[in-house]
Amino acid sequence: MTISTANLGFPRIGPRRELKFALESFWSGKITETELRDAASALRVAAWARQHAVGVDIIPSNDFSLYDHVLDTSVMVGAVPPLYDALGALDSLAVYFAMARGTRTVSGDEGCIHGHNAASDVPALEMTKWFDTNYHYMVPEVRPEQEFRLAGTKALDEFVEAKALGYHTRPVILGPVTWLLLAKSTAPGFEPISLIERLVPIYAELLQGLAEAGAEWVQIDEPALVLDLDETARDAFRMTYGMLKAAVPAMKLQLTTYFGGLGDNLETVLALPVDGLHLDLVRAPEQLEPVLLSARPDLVLSLGIVDGRNVWKSDLDRLVDWLKPVVAKRDIVLAPSCSLLHAPIDLALETSLDPEIAEWLAFAVQKLEELAVLGDALNGDRYAATAELVANAEAVAKRRESQLTNDPAVRRRLASIDADTSQRALPFAERAALQRDRLRLPALPTTTIGSFPQTSEVRKARAAHSRGDLDDTAYRDFLRQETELAIRWQEEIGIDVLVHGEFERNDMVQYFGEKLAGFAFTKAAWVQSYGSRCVRPPIIYGDVSRPEQMTVDWWCFAQGLTDRPVKGMLTGPVTILNWSFVRDDQPRELTCRQIALAIRDEVVDLEAAGAKIIQIDEAALREGLPLRRAEWQGYLDWAVECFRISSSGVRPETQIHTHMCYSEFNDIIAAIGAMDADVISIETARSKLELLDAFSTYRYPNDIGPGVYDIHSPRVPTVAEMEHLLLKAAETLPAGQIWVNPDCGLKTRKWEDVKPALVNMTAAARAVREAV
Ligand code: GLN
Ligand code: ZN
Repeated sequence: MTISTANLGFPRIGPRRELKFALESFWSGKITETELRDAASALRVAAWARQHAVGVDIIPSNDFSLYDHVLDTSVMVGAVPPLYDALGALDSLAVYFAMARGTRTVSGDEGCIHGHNAASDVPALEMTKWFDTNYHYMVPEVRPEQEFRLAGTKALDEFVEAKALGYHTRPVILGPVTWLLLAKSTAPGFEPISLIERLVPIYAELLQGLAEAGAEWVQIDEPALVLDLDETARDAFRMTYGMLKAAVPAMKLQLTTYFGGLGDNLETVLALPVDGLHLDLVRAPEQLEPVLLSARPDLVLSLGIVDGRNVWKSDLDRLVDWLKPVVAKRDIVLAPSCSLLHAPIDLALETSLDPEIAEWLAFAVQKLEELAVLGDALNGDRYAATAELVANAEAVAKRRESQLTNDPAVRRRLASIDADTSQRALPFAERAALQRDRLRLPALPTTTIGSFPQTSEVRKARAAHSRGDLDDTAYRDFLRQETELAIRWQEEIGIDVLVHGEFERNDMVQYFGEKLAGFAFTKAAWVQSYGSRCVRPPIIYGDVSRPEQMTVDWWCFAQGLTDRPVKGMLTGPVTILNWSFVRDDQPRELTCRQIALAIRDEVVDLEAAGAKIIQIDEAALREGLPLRRAEWQGYLDWAVECFRISSSGVRPETQIHTHMCYSEFNDIIAAIGAMDADVISIETARSKLELLDAFSTYRYPNDIGPGVYDIHSPRVPTVAEMEHLLLKAAETLPAGQIWVNPDCGLKTRKWEDVKPALVNMTAAARAVREAV
């Protein structure tokens, strides 16, 4: 039986983030459109050459994007909202980037911490996370009267571009059903999926064009197939693939699923008239057996066995043993579990890692090499692959046995956790009374979320310090100065609970990861988050512990400057986990408990140093929700427990705050309640406090700070509008439960916006105190 290897998508940003720099130069007018297009083409050519050199049999095209493949798809089918019509031709870069970023009058404005919603004349499309990844896509927008047409030739152009270079590629397109399921409608109650019959002919036309250009196979990504689907969606799949196959019988369709198992959609999928099916066997290995049992014998199975979402070397011996019986019976394709978009590009460029740890890792290029070795080994050519297999087995064994991954003290401590570890000594009502007596705060106390503007001086000082141009003392003195100014200013405008400003932090996860044992940081392992924005998630490789205090000195310095309470400020365990590459040799929840214990140590030390209020941010708790509803509770149970482990080591009179930067709580409100933080601050300004309903319906008993200042925009909110929001909040919730704060941290804002906004916020709080 034949075995081939395939890639589902190569990272677009370039090994040295060439795409980022080209885009940013173009946006700032330093290079022309032609230069941008040339840079993009060079990246595609290099990616094809690289994949070819590594020996991948099936190389993708149209996996590249100047910004986002979902946006590309919207443009391709002519789904450009009328708002952007005036900006140019539908397929022009002006329209494309307007949809991606909005058009701006305020230069240099980057939006919030995550870069969302910068100031604009024409706003950008909404951006949200791609399934459970940290990649963000531009949400397609459709309306009931939506018409589609084949408006873009990108898929065809890139196929032809590769062909001219001698690469016979398999074009990747985002499937019509997933595209519509991700779309939002501007008309209330209108379901985008009802447009499917209008959309499919456009795809048929595209496939026809690709077939005429010489493409034999096309990879159609339908990751929505791993979600809970209703019958309407399943019908849409049946209709779509029936129509496409009938319209373009010559084109072979590989239906591609990833990020989970097909589960209860399996039967629907196996009945579709497609020629190939890709399964994510890293996330859902258990689906292989039922698929083998019931798939048509001529259905080409693409087995996603190398983890496209993580950075670890595969255990090739294990994979050979697992797959040998399968390849004896049918043709298969070996592939990464999903597109390699989510992996860093090339381990060879990473020079800063401990060599012992580097030996355990595989980035995109190395993952493709693994596929080639695996292909050889399974093709009966074990001999040809011997050296590589031996090296792989050695690396895998070394990792398993390494001192670096196993810390007996951490293991012992974890084993000693009991119910008390995640339980505060008194219930909220009694804690609240003690805290009130101790803190003596006014009604509707004012505070902020933690960070203050990271000005260019702050960033320059940090860069100089890490280059070695600014010594430790000078850097610390500079940060102290900034902190002192922030404290003085907060006192001056009358904020009740102060923050030190987080000037010493590069990033809310990295700062802690760099101080915790078990974390590694990379220099070059960038992954696209959205558009030109790339991140370098830390790698959690070993048992996590806290060798020394992480924030206590800074807190002490800040508190020493003022009589008002300064919050201790920490990132929570679930958020640290969700924004990192996590070790795959033990359950995520176990790693999370280890982080929780480390944070707990810091919380306890802050309390011992005198902190009366400690905030533990769980910005990313919601992001960790599994794609399938049935798995939510399991995740929420351990996520909440981890937060509680981190927060329950303190006395009842110590007030624990948490912060979450999103606005959908309806479906997780019970878990939020179970976290039992004394105060939670949430993002509400943009949603005009709608989300408070979840809290009031649930009768959430603890204190809440609904964000009244939308920090995602440089606009300064007026006293009147914040007053209005607070009065509205006081209608929904008991006034005694309400805190007054912005939506999120102020790191990405400028002082000139922050100052008047917070002055107005304190004025609004004072006014409402009198009214309620
Ligand atoms: N304390 C962090 C800050 O203020 C919280 C950021 C966040 O939740 N994204 O920056
Ligand atoms: Zn936030």
